[in-house]
Formats: sequence, structure tokens, C-alpha cells
Amino acid sequence: MTVSESDEKILQHVFSHQGLLSKHLKQYEERIEQKEMARHILASYREGTIALIEAGTGIGKSFAYLLPALYWALQHQERTVISTHTIALQEQLIKKDIPFLIKVMNREIKAVLVKGMRNYVCLRKLQEMQETPLLHTPEESRDVQALSGWAKQTEDGSRSSISFSLGHGTWDKVSADSDSCNHVHCPHYKQCYFFQARKEASDAQLLIVNHSLLFADIQAKRQKREPVLPFYKRLVLDEAHHIEQVALDSSAQRIDRTSLIHALAKFFF
Ligand code: SF4
Repeated sequence: MTVSESDEKILQHVFSHQGLLSKHLKQYEERIEQKEMARHILASYREGTIALIEAGTGIGKSFAYLLPALYWALQHQERTVISTHTIALQEQLIKKDIPFLIKVMNREIKAVLVKGMRNYVCLRKLQEMQETPLLHTPEESRDVQALSGWAKQTEDGSRSSISFSLGHGTWDKVSADSDSCNHVHCPHYKQCYFFQARKEASDAQLLIVNHSLLFADIQAKRQKREPVLPFYKRLVLDEAHHIEQVALDSSAQRIDRTSLIHALAKFFF
């Protein structure tokens, strides 16, 4: 592992007990492990290698990888994807840690939380449901009415911004999905929340994603389909102990008992 003299100066400038973080964080404590982790990650960025790090609780691991990612974005204009397993960590990164670091660094850096397509409302489906009231249960009609009001004032059209509860199955009927999407031929394309979010992500230097979305992107690229994420060269996997299961789930083909019997029946008869 090698870091240049200038990299070492940056690490000192940020993490030392009189450094940038200490000036902006009350009760800041210089932590050897945090600086060591950041040093390893910075060296990996520079050498193009993989760093495998087991970080103990409380060493401040998110700052230890965010700082190199932000620094690399500024110095080399290279995008980093940061993938985590839990929504809680994604929200902490995008709402708290990254804005704080951008502020203390006093630089312009764009970071975006990228969500899967099904997290966004499909305006075409919602309109179709509004126009066919006789086809829905009373519960669905109530949901559609509430969703129509929400869709007029939501900022990002994502399910997490809904403050009321929905009946079972309603979201599946109004959420965006690639199979039914008409893309540019859809009359709502220009207002579509999903495509607006993808546009936002296209020029961001930091993308926060979950592991499922990351593997959906890897699968799409392997199958030569349209990638889910914009091009990136640098990847940080946090909460990486979930990776094996997510990778297995994303590449596995599932079949239920009835489908299996039908498939076997075709084979034998
Ligand atoms: S562009 Fe696709 S996802 Fe967006 S509103 Fe139209 S059909 Fe739905």
C-alpha cells in the first residue's frame, strides 16, 4: 500500500486532531483506525486495487471511505458508486454524512441516492386507475384518490415520500416497471419521476445505491441490456457481509411448485 506525500497531507489535514473534521465536529477524536482505513482506500483508488477491510464499530468508517471518494471525484472527475444493504445507512449517507463533508470541504459535488424503478410512481398507471373507477375495490379507489393528491405535490415521486398507508397490492398497481414502461412514447415521459431521477444520477459524482440495485446493474450489463446505473469505475461496498445472499438472489431463477409441475408435465406428456 502506498500513498503519495500529497495524499498523506490530505489525510492529516482532514483526520488529525487539529484537522478539518475537528474544526467542525464538537468532541472530535482522532482515531488511528479511521485514518488507516482512509489511507488504505486512498491507496486502492490510486493503484486500482481492491481493499478488503473489516472495520470495527465506532471507528467512523463512512467518513473513512467518503473522504477518498469525494477527493477522487474532485481530483480525477471519477464517479464512485457506494452500495449498502440497509435504507438506514443510505439515508444517513445522503442526508447527513455527505452534505456535512461537502460543506466542510467547501466544494461543489453532486451526490444522488439511486432507487430501483419500482420505488417510483408510474404516472400513466395512476392516470389509468383514475379513469377506470369501476374496476377497483373501495380500498383501491380510496388509495388512488390519496395518491393523486400526493402525486401533484411530491418532490421525487418515490414511495418513501408517502406519509399515508396504502392497501395491500395498491403500490404494485401504480409503480413504474420496465416491462410496461413506454419510455419516450409515454405522454408523461417528461414529468416521469423515475426518468427525472435517472437524469439527476447521470451527472452525479457519488451514487448511493443498495446491493440489489447494484447487482441488477451487473446482471443487465452481463446480459447486454441497458445498464441500470450510469458508467462508473469506482465502487465501495459497505455492509458487504450481505453481498453473497443478494448476489445469489439476484442471479437465481425461482420457480414455484405449480409452475414446476406444469413444466415437468410438458416434458413427459
Ligand atoms: S415513462 Fe414509463 S414509468 Fe414513466 S410514467 Fe410513463 S410509463 Fe410510467
